[in-house]
Amino acid sequence: MAEVSLNGLTKTYGATRALDAVSFTVPDGAFVVLLGPTGAGKTTTLRLIAGLEPADSGSITIAGRNVSRESPAERDVAMVFQQYSLYPHLTVRDNLAFPLKSPILRVPAAEITRKVNEVAEVLRITHKLDNKATQLSGGEMQRVSIGRALVRSPAIYLMDEPLSSLDAKLRSDLRVELKRIQADLGATLLYVTHDQIEAMTMATHVGVLDQGRLVQFGTPREVYENP
Ligand code: ADP
Ligand code: ADP
Repeated sequence: MAEVSLNGLTKTYGATRALDAVSFTVPDGAFVVLLGPTGAGKTTTLRLIAGLEPADSGSITIAGRNVSRESPAERDVAMVFQQYSLYPHLTVRDNLAFPLKSPILRVPAAEITRKVNEVAEVLRITHKLDNKATQLSGGEMQRVSIGRALVRSPAIYLMDEPLSSLDAKLRSDLRVELKRIQADLGATLLYVTHDQIEAMTMATHVGVLDQGRLVQFGTPREVYENP
């Protein structure tokens, strides 16, 4: 658990200013939804926080620590992408265990087993643990993708439209589940979407980006009452 602060974050790609002096704070335990049209800079925001690329200027702090020069692994964040990033030939169990098997982490085998079982329970996929990823439905695959973030118990979760490839019913089921999981874990979560229903139903705070600028930030109520 930790708060994240962005301070004057700026990023350009050639002539495109993807982010223009963006500043906001994701409070500890908050569920912040970033909204905005395509090209607004939402994904770039997550990628910079994850450390997948450097900012041009500005800084990022996590739990009060300036992480701007830290590698993605040092930042203790986990990112969930829109496309399921599973290893198709591995079982669900091995997909979930994968992030913990890095030799750098030295997680004991018994601890990996415990964690995988616990996360499978939370995501209600225990009955699928021995299935190959290719044998799962879209909703199950996305659950496992989220599970691969959960097993690491990161300080911050970064999710980039994790439900947008699913049908409406699954999306609505998983919205409820994600909200429950976040509340149960007390997790700090930054979630990108362009779906206003997702923002309304899940967010403690909403940030609205437009052409690289943060144009609104507040509770869902504040944002929707002052469009
Ligand atoms: P969003 O997630 O809100 O759709 P992005 O953060 O993906 O927006 O993109 C913001 C802007 O930066 C867009 O104009 C996009 O085309 C541009 N952009 C993003 N990544 C790159 C890149 N790797 N190279 C060039 N332009 C990029
Ligand atoms: P390498 O370092 O050789 O790329 P990886 O451990 O990354 O090996 O990948 C092992 C296998 O899993 C490879 O066959 C690769 O194609 C597949 N794989 C890797 N990443 C993904 C992913 N995000 N989604 C699906 N399959 C993947």
